[in-house]
Amino acid sequence: MRFPLALTLKITRHIVRHKVLRTPKFAMVLQLEPLHTCNLTCTGCGRIREYSTSLKDMVPLDQCLAAATDCDAPMVSVCGGEPLIYPKIEELVAGLRAQGRIIYICTNGMFMRKKMRDYLAAHYSPAFEDKLSRLVAAELVTEKEADQIRNADPAARSKVTIAPSKWMYWNVHVDGLEYTHDLIVEREGVFKECVAAIRMAKILGFQVATNTTVYKETQVREIEDMFSFLSWLDVDGHTISPGYDYDAAKKDMAKRLGRNPDDFFLTRAMTRDKFRDIQKWGERFTIFGTPVYQEFLAGKRELTCTAWAIPTYNVKGWKAPCYLMTDGHYPSYSEMLTKVAWDKYGVVDGVARDPRCENCMVHCGYDPSGALGTNYQSGDNWKNFRYNFSARPKADPTGAGVKAFNGYSIGRGHLAEAKATVNQELSGARSAFARGGSGTSDPTSGNAGVGATCAAEPAAEASSAQREELLNHIKRNGGGIPLKPE
Ligand code: SF4
Ligand code: SF4
Repeated sequence: MRFPLALTLKITRHIVRHKVLRTPKFAMVLQLEPLHTCNLTCTGCGRIREYSTSLKDMVPLDQCLAAATDCDAPMVSVCGGEPLIYPKIEELVAGLRAQGRIIYICTNGMFMRKKMRDYLAAHYSPAFEDKLSRLVAAELVTEKEADQIRNADPAARSKVTIAPSKWMYWNVHVDGLEYTHDLIVEREGVFKECVAAIRMAKILGFQVATNTTVYKETQVREIEDMFSFLSWLDVDGHTISPGYDYDAAKKDMAKRLGRNPDDFFLTRAMTRDKFRDIQKWGERFTIFGTPVYQEFLAGKRELTCTAWAIPTYNVKGWKAPCYLMTDGHYPSYSEMLTKVAWDKYGVVDGVARDPRCENCMVHCGYDPSGALGTNYQSGDNWKNFRYNFSARPKADPTGAGVKAFNGYSIGRGHLAEAKATVNQELSGARSAFARGGSGTSDPTSGNAGVGATCAAEPAAEASSAQREELLNHIKRNGGGIPLKPE
């Protein structure tokens, strides 16, 4: 099965119960943002920008758990910011499990190995030696760390930790192969760390998914290569969504960067072109989401937005109308359902009810529509059933041949190029940061100019102030930027 049976049954029961009760609107997935603090500052990240005045605020643990109870979604996607920075993340995961929910921890991957070492230290027994040896041999854990795990003190032994469970997935943000991904997150070594974390998680028996956002400059070939590589790593499933052309990002791009937003964002027609092969990907790889949503992305049908089914809760309350667009926050899910004029959003029969929705085809607005039978067509239920219950695609052996490490690992990261440019005293240093057709992008190398963030918002152009700052730093310090991930 593409998605484990117990989890499929749980979601199916939830939908059937509400259909029988004729509940007009109900939650399928809660996007829970306990904080917006992050260890990265990805280009164009909407979360750290939109909530810049509340980056230090956090949702208390009991309030997070109460939000899950409030909307009663069977799945909770714990996101942010970086959720592994949340001081009570282990207790949050344990609390959500105690409520019987399926949990996705949406992470940039940088703290995953630390959290898994905590798990090993808390649960260590000689039975773990085999896995520990494999981790050391694969250089995913050092000898010193292995000894610390073996000799953990009582505090580490009694710590609440995140343990493997069929009800939990690490959901790692990966937007391309090494060069592209590190470019997007503006730090070299992040892709390498993500891969190390995925490998460690698989050795320890965790379920791992990835999430990817596709933008105008994304090269389809690179996405396919990325899926092959991740499949070969035995990743359990992938979420993929088109980038979103939303008002705030457009304004930001025009005002702050002086760029034409049309250069970066996908229109509906472009999305359909990029996703024309998604159904083939769904046969080769374990793409999460319904085949009905895949047909929508491929331009084979229309769906109506059901953003209320994937509500977002954060430091300001229930965010409406959707994960990406903010017209207000509400104190309870039911109040949000009642007070928001839902029929003012989305695209119906090709006509945008709100101009900001015009080009939106994102997963959090339309994937639930496929599962809930919105715009139902004969055979949809069977299609969804067959997709979920058919055998999970096997790990792709061709993934071993993908040149995934095409940046930092081979000295060809974006900072490396910037340094080389500066060292050669070329005036066009910023070209080293440019993406896609506007810069040094090499279409034959998989260096696609993918722009995406875990907040599924558009990446800003590469000549951002942060990058200019980095270049200046390199100039001042003679290239003294550490190339190791934190
Ligand atoms: S896109 Fe995600 S990882 Fe990047 S800065 Fe934003 S919250 Fe952090
Ligand atoms: S179509 Fe739905 S998910 Fe997309 S921006 Fe509009 S309200 Fe949000």
